[in-house]
Formats: sequence, structure tokens, C-alpha cells
Amino acid sequence: MNTNRLRFAPSPTGYVHVGNARTALFNFLHAEKTGGALVLRIEDTDVERSKREYEENLIKDLKWLGIDWQEGPDKGGEFGPYRQSERTETYRNYGQQLIDAGHAYYCFCTPDELNKAKENAQEQGLQQEYSGKCRKLSAAEAQKRVQNGEPAAIRFKVPENTEITFYDLVREKVTFDSNLISDPIILRSSGIPAYNFSVVIDDYLMKINMVIRGEDHLSNTARQVLLYKALGFDLPKFAHLSMVMGSDNTKLSKRHGSTSLIQFREEGYLPEALLNYLALLGWSPAGGDKVLFTRDELIKDFNIKKVSKSAAIFDYQKLKWMNREHLRLLDDKELGTRMTPFLQRAGFEFTDDPGIIPWIGKTARVLSAYHHLLSEIADGFKQFTSLDYDPAIVSSIADSEEARKVIGIMSAEIAGVPSPVDFSKVAEIIKKIQQQEGIKGKALYHPIRLALTGKESGIELNDFIPIIETGSTLDIKPAVYNMASRLKVFIA
Ligand code: GLU
Repeated sequence: MNTNRLRFAPSPTGYVHVGNARTALFNFLHAEKTGGALVLRIEDTDVERSKREYEENLIKDLKWLGIDWQEGPDKGGEFGPYRQSERTETYRNYGQQLIDAGHAYYCFCTPDELNKAKENAQEQGLQQEYSGKCRKLSAAEAQKRVQNGEPAAIRFKVPENTEITFYDLVREKVTFDSNLISDPIILRSSGIPAYNFSVVIDDYLMKINMVIRGEDHLSNTARQVLLYKALGFDLPKFAHLSMVMGSDNTKLSKRHGSTSLIQFREEGYLPEALLNYLALLGWSPAGGDKVLFTRDELIKDFNIKKVSKSAAIFDYQKLKWMNREHLRLLDDKELGTRMTPFLQRAGFEFTDDPGIIPWIGKTARVLSAYHHLLSEIADGFKQFTSLDYDPAIVSSIADSEEARKVIGIMSAEIAGVPSPVDFSKVAEIIKKIQQQEGIKGKALYHPIRLALTGKESGIELNDFIPIIETGSTLDIKPAVYNMASRLKVFIA
């Protein structure tokens, strides 16, 4: 049986954008689902913009997201090298082969000449096309000029009057008219290949039989199909994914919000939530309204044939919601571990006391009712280590005799109980005040809530009290204030 071989072929010229991550993910899911192989190929032919640092980051970011591959520059493999900059010899040989077969020709036009032609076309509002000047040179003459050391690029001879057709798993039959395509450069005089050329050679040599990429490449695919034919290579299957758009229906960009994996990671999105969200950008599972998927469930349910042609809208609110749902699936220890770097960044310090991580996890779960991202939740922890009460809150208690009485008794009672004070103990004290003083309802609970939390509303006392009581016994900096120290603020 022929196994599926897929590839993700990023250019290392920047951080991984969610659109590219989605392409990588669909390739990964299809490969995993069908027991195929995924190849990571680095398309670093743009010498000026490509950086090794971007390659390293993109490997790290994709792994963070949960995408893995079987072959690539970091793993090696049978069909390497996996960086295009290390394959120039191969491209040169195939360029020569196309010249020899009459499918390509040498082009001696200088960059200046070509730029001028481009500017002229632009001024006249015309399509930029190659004039075909060097196509007319005889093979013998061109050969002589090359031998004389004249710099020459290689251009592909686009056949005239040809309908270019290919079948796409998403868009079905796609057709282009070859007369609308002017002869492209496939190898520059520097020996650096053009994308459309190197991609065909590499996909062929790496035995790629399915190409999943963004639909912004559709017109490139038409050019590539011509090259496949000229080289006598079999076509792979194609699937072109619709673009990822912002809410205003323009291509997703910085204007809409975060767009690179690294930004999402730093804001405190969980990789499993982002992976889940990206999978649903253009794909939906057959039947049912299920939206929360683990990575394994995605692999099981993914079907490339169910990918939609219509543009996918990136909805930040939905992603945030999904993040919260995924963080609630983690147990306390795991959630605590994931929170750690965010708390450190927010200025907290803690030791490796085994009680700390589960406490962080439990507390983060309570805070997830108010915040969706790990960075926001980390900021939420600051309320437990602060006694910086709003003066209006302090005076609202000071000005009421009844409130002062409630807080006074509470404070005296709590002073006799060692920390951590159990919530049931607090409930007992509250009952006692009610019976003893006849104070009940809002007059009883509201001052307690204000004195302990410093806020009119927010976390319920039965969650808040265990958080501060346990937290105050742990080695955390800044320290968590327990009930006794909070109540003291109100005792003159
Ligand atoms: N290097 C190309 C890009 O990043 C790859 C496109 C393709 O998958 O063929 O857009």
C-alpha cells in the first residue's frame, strides 16, 4: 500500500502565524489519521529574509502546539537534506535537464532591464509580463553567451494555448489558461531557485503525494503543474485551504490582534486550546455540535474532505472561551504547573514546597470564572497578597456600628483559631453572631465579605476563605494575607 507523505514547508522569515500553523496542523492531522508521514521542509531560499533563528523558533512553536513530524532538518530522514539552501546542486541539475529538453531557456536580461519593464507596465496599468526577449534566442547563441561567462537565469517556457487543470480536494476542478502566465524564472543567475521550481523538485524527490497549503498558492499550483508535466513527474493530490480572516473579512493581521503562536503562548493560551480552535478553522466534524476536542480526538475525527471552501473567520472571543474550557479539563497539579511561569512573570516567588502547585491550581480554577487566559489569572492572584483596600470600603465598615460589631466579633473569634482556618469554622462563627446579636442577612454577610475580600462582589466566600487560609501557610512571596490579618485592618 502506498503510504501518504505530506509536508509542511515554511519559509523561516518570521514567527509562525496562525494561518501557517493551521496549514501545518491539517497536514499533521491527515498524516496521523492515515498512518502517513509528515516532512518538515525549510524553504530558506530567500537569503536576505531567512534566518536560522526563525527556523529554531518555528520548530519550538510547532512542537509547543502539539505538531510533530517524522522527517526534517532537526530529525534527518531518508530524503534530506531538508533545507532548500542545502539542495542547490539538485536544482541546478534539474534546471539543466529542462534546458536540454527544450522546456526552459537562458535569460540574460539584467535586473535593471526587468525592473524598468516592470515599472512601465505598472505605469500603464498593465499586467507585468516577461517580454519574451530571450525566448527568441537560438539555443546555440545562448550556450555561447553562457560559456563566455555572461550571467544567466533560467526561465521556464510556458506552453501556449494550454488549459491547465488539476483536481483539488477542497475546490474540486481548478482551471487556468496558460496564455495568462508569462515565462517565470526558475533559477536565478545566482543559482538560487524560485519557489515554484524548488517546491516541485523537492515534493517529487521527497515522494510527497499530497500537498495541503493555503489557497493563496492556487495560481502557483498552476505553474507547478506545468513544471511537473515538463519534468515527467506524477502530480501529487492537492488541497488548498481557504484563508483565515479577521472579523471584518480581511486577511487576519496584526490589526485584529495576536497572530503569531508565540504571542498566544505568552498571553497564556494553552496549546491544546489553540490546537482545537485552529482545527475548527475551516473543518467541521461530521454530525453533532461537538467543539471541544483533544489532540487524539482530532486525529481520529479529522477528514480533509470535510474542509470548507469558504473563508474561516478567526474569532478571538471563541478562542478565549475554548481556552477556559481546556484549562478546566486539567487537574489541579497540571493547572498549577502551567500557571507557574505566568505567576513568576507577575512577580510571585515560591519554593518547591509540594503544597504550592496544587494550591495554585485550585486557586486558578476558582479565578477561571472571571478570567480566560493564564496571564489574566496570574494577575487575579494579586488580590490575595494585597491589603490595599479602597478607603471607601474601609469607611463603609467604620461608619456602621452594626458592621463594626460583626467584624469585631469575627476578628476576636478568628484570633483564637490556628491558621489555616476551616470554612466550617467560619460558618459556625457567623451563626454565633447571628444568634448572639440578632444581626442577619445582608447586614451580617456584607461587612464580612468587604472586610475579607475588599470587594463588593467577586469570588464567593466559601472559595475565597480556603484560598487565603491555605495560601497564607505556604512559602509564597509576596505572602498571602489570611483572615486574621485582613480583619485587623478594620480593628482600630
Ligand atoms: N514556503 C511556502 C510558504 O511558506 C510553501 C508553500 C507550499 O506549501 O508549497 O508559503
